[in-house]
Amino acid sequence: MPTLPIPNVTLPAVLNGKSNGQLPSAVLWTTPSDTGGPAVTLVEPAARAWRALVAAALEHYSWPIRATSTADSYRSYAQQEALFRARYRTTKPDGATESRTWQGRQWWLVPGKASAAVPGTSNHGWGIAVDIANVTTDRLRWLTTAAWIYGWGWELQSEPWHMRYTLGDAIPAAVLVYEQENEMSELGQQWDGSYAIKRLESLCQMDETYTVTLPDKSKRVETNDLVKAVNTLIARTADPIEIDYKRLAVEIIAAVAERP
Ligand SMILES: [Zn+2]
Repeated sequence: MPTLPIPNVTLPAVLNGKSNGQLPSAVLWTTPSDTGGPAVTLVEPAARAWRALVAAALEHYSWPIRATSTADSYRSYAQQEALFRARYRTTKPDGATESRTWQGRQWWLVPGKASAAVPGTSNHGWGIAVDIANVTTDRLRWLTTAAWIYGWGWELQSEPWHMRYTLGDAIPAAVLVYEQENEMSELGQQWDGSYAIKRLESLCQMDETYTVTLPDKSKRVETNDLVKAVNTLIARTADPIEIDYKRLAVEIIAAVAERP
């Protein structure tokens, strides 16, 4: 199984002063599935990034990415509590090794059950997490190369199905490109990624270095180092990611354009 990128999470500003699992419907966007899956409810920036990720998975990897159930995107406090109580016991079951503290008591995970966050702490309660139904190793490999471009990452190596949106209000360029493409296709026009590719190619050949910020905002890197990293990523990926390479180029150019 590929190693899952686990970037730090920035919460969207609209969540300031709100309570986990008790979000008003005004801050939540529901996205119906075009491929027969359950609707996905998330806080606005995460919903936009989800739509772009789903479109990319379908278009470029023929993967109809779906949530496991309607309760596996935004989850109310009551739903999280019911889930937690179904998996944890205050009396230690035989063979239990993992526990959490909730309401001043120790709760033991029933062996064989997947772990769950303590009620009031889940990223599902913030409307930034989705549990994906149909992950396979191959699909996961594609996702680990493509998801970060859309602002998505993981939380635990042991839970490849549990993804979360990490970038707060900093909508990734690839999401903006997706939205622009959508708008253009509604107008009967087509996005041309070749300009971005040309720019990336010219950057690769430059002696001059630029400082760019990676989409997860974790650090600023020199363009040459970033280009090297991108080339490594492409070299070790057997899957067709040509179009995501284009989107990556758009991302890099947007970052370069913002340099001081
Ligand atoms: Zn989850």
